[in-house]
Amino acid sequence: MSAMAEPEVNVLRHLPAVAAVLATREGALLVERYGHVMVTHAIRQVIDDARDVLRTAPSAVPDVTELAQQAQRLLDAQMPGLRPLFNLTGVVLHTNLGRAVLAEAAVDAAVQAMRHAVALEYDLANGTRGERDDHLRALLCELTGAEDATVVNNNAAAVLLCLNTFALGREAVVSRGELIEIGGAFRMPDIMARAGARMVEVGTTNRTHAADYRNAFNEHTGLVLKVHTSNYRIQGFTADVAASELAHMARAAGVPLLNDLGSGSLVDLSRYGLAREPTVREAVAEGAQLVTFSGDKLLGGPQTGFIVGDHALIEQINRNPLKRALRVDKLRLAAVEATLKLYRDPDRLAERLPTLRFLARSKADIEAQARRLQAGVAEALGSAFVVEVGDCLSQIGSGSLPTDTLASTALLIHPRGSQRRLEALAASLRTLPRPIIGRIADGALHLDLRCLAEADEALFLTTWTQLDISDLAARHP
Ligand SMILES: *Cc1c(COP(=O)(O)O)cnc(C)c1O
Repeated sequence: MSAMAEPEVNVLRHLPAVAAVLATREGALLVERYGHVMVTHAIRQVIDDARDVLRTAPSAVPDVTELAQQAQRLLDAQMPGLRPLFNLTGVVLHTNLGRAVLAEAAVDAAVQAMRHAVALEYDLANGTRGERDDHLRALLCELTGAEDATVVNNNAAAVLLCLNTFALGREAVVSRGELIEIGGAFRMPDIMARAGARMVEVGTTNRTHAADYRNAFNEHTGLVLKVHTSNYRIQGFTADVAASELAHMARAAGVPLLNDLGSGSLVDLSRYGLAREPTVREAVAEGAQLVTFSGDKLLGGPQTGFIVGDHALIEQINRNPLKRALRVDKLRLAAVEATLKLYRDPDRLAERLPTLRFLARSKADIEAQARRLQAGVAEALGSAFVVEVGDCLSQIGSGSLPTDTLASTALLIHPRGSQRRLEALAASLRTLPRPIIGRIADGALHLDLRCLAEADEALFLTTWTQLDISDLAARHP
């Protein structure tokens, strides 16, 4: 303080106090919106900032109204981290962007479950305690042909729980060709170790035969695991053992076969113009005693893991104390139930389930949308960029059908200048109230429109008008 010049100290004394800013009309409105604690905090911060400015350079002292407005800008800018964004990456089930967008029916069900008490573990017919899984058991059995079913936090949890229930302190047999790693540190050998199972690898990377499994079975075997190699393909000189044959061998050896499908679809996707994925019903019919799959991949629901299979085994799983630690809350159960019910009406599924609607969209439809939006985007960007309509390939994502791409159309944004200008634009688009996320490739920003719902087009164009890139060209020539 002693180093400070006299006149500045005097100026600082004229800075309004927090209470004075709070007492303005603007301050009162802010308190109504954000609450006393947050507003006080913001006002204190803008006063601190003003003090710093006055100390470094002589300038006018802001009055109470100006400070209240600055506090408002500060509070308004604190947007929620999980706010909605436009996923124009071309990856429909983008794990980093939250995977499946839920159906309206699922959203409504979750909102109701949030807002009200629900019969989560309560039997309405008898007025006695019920079971959380009962809401989904019958539906899952109907849709998969399985005897019984249970639900946990995600598919990683489903696999962990099965391994821990049947192979704790025992051996789990798996082909070397199926020792997958999927994103986020889910590696099959690590999961086995954490589940307390001893991994027994059989066969080779490209070929595994029935005899390899048979030779591995002994009195210590607890479980045989078959893993859908969802995020890669082994091509060429390959061999694996069909699930039906493996199921036979496992039954003969007296151990369960767990078939981890990963995505696992409930319907034949070729009906919607997509490549065939094994359906859960098929996997059950092939004889696997346990089948696991995700809720938020091709199924298009919230994050969940399903285990379907033999009644006696599912009962054993439900008695495992880990089940309690991996259970699903009422919000998601409500959303899952509503999502699964949509599968009872396959004819209208693509209409109602966003994941399938996006995946099934024709290139012609997406291209027409791109042409509708091109001029609006070009206008928002001005002369610093060129906007074209061009071909691109969408991916399903989340390790589903990795080698299949879908012909799509993108808005291609080229900088009339350096690559740095393009990167600066991409960064600006990420700071919008509703961020726009694309993909930079070949010197252009690709905005694949596959996941832009027609109902969101107006909002998309409005969002572009909120973009401020007035100094971009000057900063990045
Ligand atoms: C995606 C996947 C998992 C993990 O599923 P999550 O629902 O993401 O936990 C497990 N196994 C396979 C084969 C997968 O593809």
